[in-house]
Amino acid sequence: MKKRVWHSGWKPMLNKKSRIDLHLHSCASDGVRTLQEIVNVALANKIDFMALTDHDTIRNTIAFSEAAREAGIAVLHGIEVSALFHSQVIHILGYGINPDLPVLRNYQNHYQESENQQALRTIANYRKKGAHVCEAEYEQYTYDYRRGSWKLFAYLQDQKIISTMQDYQSELAKGHILRSDILSAEAVIEMIHQAQGAAVIAHIFDYSNLNPELMLKTLTSQGLDGIECYHTHHRPEQSQWLANYANLHHLWITGGSDDHGHLSDRTMGTPRITLDQLNLGPLMNKIQY
Ligand SMILES: [Zn+2]
Ligand SMILES: [Zn+2]
Repeated sequence: MKKRVWHSGWKPMLNKKSRIDLHLHSCASDGVRTLQEIVNVALANKIDFMALTDHDTIRNTIAFSEAAREAGIAVLHGIEVSALFHSQVIHILGYGINPDLPVLRNYQNHYQESENQQALRTIANYRKKGAHVCEAEYEQYTYDYRRGSWKLFAYLQDQKIISTMQDYQSELAKGHILRSDILSAEAVIEMIHQAQGAAVIAHIFDYSNLNPELMLKTLTSQGLDGIECYHTHHRPEQSQWLANYANLHHLWITGGSDDHGHLSDRTMGTPRITLDQLNLGPLMNKIQY
């Protein structure tokens, strides 16, 4: 039987005005907060229901659910998976996933291995061009997660190869920094389904070279379940357009801030989202209180 944590003074059940944030990152990916820090910020922001959606990892998923429920906040298990769509990297959220199944754990391990291998190849290439970098040094290298970064970025920054995110992106575009293996969007949707979750396209207006409507049409034919209609980067009319599209095509409606703890343009609880704006369909049965 599912463990339930009841606290006197807390209302464990949600209502239509409950405050929601279903897109958050922790120090398991590129966020700067520990799980307890996220819970504390959520309490301060009066968030009633949230989901942790770290990039390509479920390392913190179960511990986060426990910490949130202890504080009287409802949770849905989540992840944000990198995917390739027409050669561009997009993000697909997986909600209501079962972290005990091997499928996402295997994916996480494969992704980390590929990330490490590609980082070592990247460093070897820079070294051959005369940069003061070294694979063995990289393997020993550690950095403070509070920089809100990832290992290769932090290392190249410390070695003065790059200084900003723009530099990193430009080196990536030139092929100097090698990308980890990324699954196609169709394969990611399939994987999320195998993990018993619902696949939701994240912040669709962020992909500058892709047409949102064409994307939705293709992804829906590939099994997409929902749209992140409410997101910090969406203007109100864009959110409305997405919600109309979702209703018309029987897709679930989600939303969240994409808070990382240190990015000034993404803060928990913004945009303000209440449960009556969303349509979570069968995910409602997977909420843990
Ligand atoms: Zn994203
Ligand atoms: Zn995100």
